[in-house]
This record gives sequence, C-alpha cells and structure tokens, in this order.
Amino acid sequence: MSLTLPDLPYAKDALEPYLSAKTLEFHHDKHHKAYVDNGNKLIAGTDLDKEDAEAIIKKVVGDASKAGIFNNAAQVWNHSFYWLCLKPKGGGRPTGEVAQKIDADFGSYQKFAEELKNAGVTQFGSGWAWLVLKDGKLAVTKTGNADTPIAHGIKPLLTVDVWEHAYYLDYQNRRPDYIQAVIDNLINWDFVNSRLK
Ligand code: MN
Repeated sequence: MSLTLPDLPYAKDALEPYLSAKTLEFHHDKHHKAYVDNGNKLIAGTDLDKEDAEAIIKKVVGDASKAGIFNNAAQVWNHSFYWLCLKPKGGGRPTGEVAQKIDADFGSYQKFAEELKNAGVTQFGSGWAWLVLKDGKLAVTKTGNADTPIAHGIKPLLTVDVWEHAYYLDYQNRRPDYIQAVIDNLINWDFVNSRLK
C-alpha cells in the first residue's frame, strides 16, 4: 500500500507539558492512522495504489469524484509533515537562514509569530496554519480541512494542525493557547531551515 504511517520522531511524552502523551497517542495512533487506512482502502486496485501521498494529492486535486482520496491523502501528508515540525525544547526565536528571512519578509520574529497565531486562530472550523515559501518569499497562510499548500504548487516550511483533535484533550476550546505553546516551545526550526535548503 502506498500511504504509510511514519513513526513519531520522538517519544509520545516528549512534548509534555505542552502536548500530552495522551494527545499524541490519539492524534498519531488513531487519527493519523485512520487517514492512512481509509486512504489505502479508497485507492486499492486503482492506478493510484503504488503512488505516495504527494503524488496522489497532485493527481486528484480538483477532481470532485476523488474528494475522499484527496482528503485522506492530504491528511496523511499534512500529519507526517506536522510531526517533523515539532520537537522537545523547540520554539522561540529561530537561528540560521530562516531567522534572516523572517526579519526580511515579516519585519521581525514577533510580527511573524503574531501572523502565524492569527492564521490558526481565525481558521474557521478544522484546518492548518502554515509558513510557506511563495515566489521566493516567506508567507503565512491557512487551509481548511485537509487542504494543503502542496496541492497548489506552494512549498510548506512549517505547519500547525488546528483541528480540535490536535489540542482538545490538553486545551479544550483554548486554541489560541495551544498555538502559542507550539510557537514558544515546540517548533523545530532545524527542520524548517532544512526545508529552505
Ligand atoms: Mn490532526
């Protein structure tokens, strides 16, 4: 099968106290896995069955008859990417190339952090907040439900999952507090810098 569930790149309790082991257990082992399993059922026996998530997303985007395949493949890709965007003792001001680009393209780290938080807070319903590279410049954007920048030819550098399942066990309805905790304590800037290379 072509959609696969990667292992988490850290222990389930590694992101505590900001994200609990319980949240990672449900989020990775139940939600992420369900997108993998459901997507694989939908592509079984079709010409998509040997493709990876990114190829499937690009092949079915915009095809209403394949919306179920798109949604599951995009959620598989988005979650695999999201896990890599987090790490224990992360967050705060970046270093390296992305730090310089944030100053150049947003004016300051503070301005960037406010924009990313605002994108996540104002995403109505489920979705994702993103830092992307578009036309050589950094930009903050948001997508609804399963939608993903890679379906639209835009390169993601960082994402924050703002579906309720990402934070409800730890933060209940306090989505802004969850996003702030990720920004201040969990962003894997080494990974973001590697995406810029
Ligand atoms: Mn999620």
